[in-house]
Amino acid sequence: MKFVDEASISVEAGNGGNGCLSFRREKYIPKGGPDGGDGGHGGSVFLIAEEAVNTLVDYRYVRRYKAENGEGGMGREMSGKQGEDTYLKVPIGTTVIDEDTLEILGDLTEEGATLKVAEGGQRGLGNIHFKSSVNRAPRQTTKGTPGESRNLKLEMKVLADVGLLGLPNAGKSTFIRAVSAAKPKVADYPFTTMVPNLGVVSVAKHKSFVVADIPGLIEGASEGAGLGIRFLKHLVRTRILLHLVDMNPYDGSTPAENAKVIVNELEKFSPELVNRERWLLLNKLDLVPEDERQQRCQDVIEALDWKGPVYQISAISKEGTQQICFDIMSFLDTRAEATIENPELIEQEEAHRKLVEDEARSRMEELSERRNEHRAARKAAKLAAKEVDDEDDDDGEGPEFIYTYE
Ligand code: GDP
Ligand code: MG
Repeated sequence: MKFVDEASISVEAGNGGNGCLSFRREKYIPKGGPDGGDGGHGGSVFLIAEEAVNTLVDYRYVRRYKAENGEGGMGREMSGKQGEDTYLKVPIGTTVIDEDTLEILGDLTEEGATLKVAEGGQRGLGNIHFKSSVNRAPRQTTKGTPGESRNLKLEMKVLADVGLLGLPNAGKSTFIRAVSAAKPKVADYPFTTMVPNLGVVSVAKHKSFVVADIPGLIEGASEGAGLGIRFLKHLVRTRILLHLVDMNPYDGSTPAENAKVIVNELEKFSPELVNRERWLLLNKLDLVPEDERQQRCQDVIEALDWKGPVYQISAISKEGTQQICFDIMSFLDTRAEATIENPELIEQEEAHRKLVEDEARSRMEELSERRNEHRAARKAAKLAAKEVDDEDDDDGEGPEFIYTYE
């Protein structure tokens, strides 16, 4: 399963500055030679991969980038100033494609990796270069050449930083809409109806993260609905789980009961994931009369014996949602810093990921075993009842359940 975040930008390098046509003119030196300096090279455009950048979202707002032009040369043999290069920060894992030729220009896979995407123009030469024994007063110069320009497509496979948990109708999709700038394109997933809803949340320049609403993740997952398990790889990478609770269920259930369903499912589903950072989002509070809010919230907190962070929000009116985003960003930043300073943390994280993946794998195997047993039992029952048609022992339930985990 791959989610692709993408952006199209155009980049233009600076032009080279022109060479200068000039002659030395000073008192007592009536016929000074040529002294026109060279132009400066134009600045180039580079991409640079940085750990601190999570998504390509900034490149959806500003799409054109230009490096500085070189300045023209001047008299007295003075060269023009070179144009500054422009460095554009992109996330690690960005693939760079020339949008016109569809050629892949490069993959930026490591912290600090750079790629020149538009070469600055060459400087022009001043007339000092053209002096010779036969021509002592050359009037010749060259012009700077134009900087290269390109249309680029940036692509990055994203993994969610934040996963949403909650019963259907809890407000997960609404929450994503409330906080996110744009949806990355979702690709490579065969079950279009099961495509998770992904949002890129942009908090400030170069500060963003990805939220995924993973449908069917928990709902019945541990009982064998199992759909969510396919999204596990996504979940494995998440740093924070947000548990959304509908505080005004229309079906007469209580928010506390509903919240417990999710927690129980999570425990059954993955004891490892239970230990992941998890925040409680008490949603739809706009529907609860003000004087009942505190009590209702307190009930959920007590029922879950909840000690972690709690937010009271209304996803639909965006009440309280911005604060959550700031807090998530600072949590992720702190974590990223800690990881850079401490290689052990990286190892721990890897081990943790592996555990969750193993859990998912064994759960899937269990699941397929159970289904096959179930099928065998049914067949046996049919045989016993002599109802089996020799030609057709397929019970119409489709192919044997086969599990693959990439
Ligand atoms: P999901 O199944 O968890 O993705 O839930 P949705 O985001 O689709 O929301 C289910 C329903 O609840 C929709 O009709 C939303 O408009 C509504 N809803 C979600 N959040 C709020 C909220 O904060 N206040 C109110 N009044 N309705 C909400
Ligand atoms: Mg939804």
